[in-house]
Amino acid sequence: MSIWVLRGLRDGVVTTRWPERPDEYAGSWRGPAAVRPDSAGGAGAEVERLCPTGAIEAFDRLRVDQGRCILCGRCVAARPDLFTWSAGATGPAAAAVARQALVVPQEPETDEAVAAARAALAGRTAALRRSVHVRHVDAGSDGSEEWEIQALLGPVYDIGRLGVFFTASPRHADVLLVTGAGTAGMAGPLRTTYEGMPDPRVVIAVGTDAASGGLLGDRLTGVAGAVPVDVWVPGSPPTPFGILNALLIATGILGYGGKGER
Ligand code: SF4
Repeated sequence: MSIWVLRGLRDGVVTTRWPERPDEYAGSWRGPAAVRPDSAGGAGAEVERLCPTGAIEAFDRLRVDQGRCILCGRCVAARPDLFTWSAGATGPAAAAVARQALVVPQEPETDEAVAAARAALAGRTAALRRSVHVRHVDAGSDGSEEWEIQALLGPVYDIGRLGVFFTASPRHADVLLVTGAGTAGMAGPLRTTYEGMPDPRVVIAVGTDAASGGLLGDRLTGVAGAVPVDVWVPGSPPTPFGILNALLIATGILGYGGKGER
């Protein structure tokens, strides 16, 4: 009997049941840095200088732009009284339908922008809920996001069970999954891919690099300059659960914040 058969008998079914059932593993992942709700304030420019990507703003109110956070941990280590980690890969902090929603704590007017973006997205993607095909484009990635995307095809996540499949052709794709900091050389191919997709089409920016340029943020600004982004997934890289969460939100299979809408 082969070793793989023995392993199968020993491990049983390893595929997650999420989102139909909660998965403790999904909740155990660390999200981007956030401002502690109980922080006493009083932060100055020295706090901003902790961050290598300029994600921290302490001008009038302390904020973290999670779309710039690469999870280096410097702010949490140096000022645990001000910063903490946001929790989980599938909660409300795991994906945003408006770029400004990644800046926390959110401004009151952000709620309105998020509601408008959600309504517009839901109207466009109502036809996609049964099955979707995904085209991935690397627009200058360091390769870390690709590892996490690849994991979605393995036995633990098995995205085919949710009707999500990858395709090599933009003509067959409903969702454009974009990774990377948005290099100039990839702007044209990315745009061509987007224009080759039929309507309705949804764009997901996967990871901090795609959202803002990440560590290269002084030279590159992410992928939104080339294609209109519908869903933003922070993280460097985001976890497979985070990417799957965004895919299901983008296609209306899952509600924003992880609530099922099937
Ligand atoms: S974890 Fe690192 S990148 Fe993220 S906000 Fe803190 S210092 Fe900046």
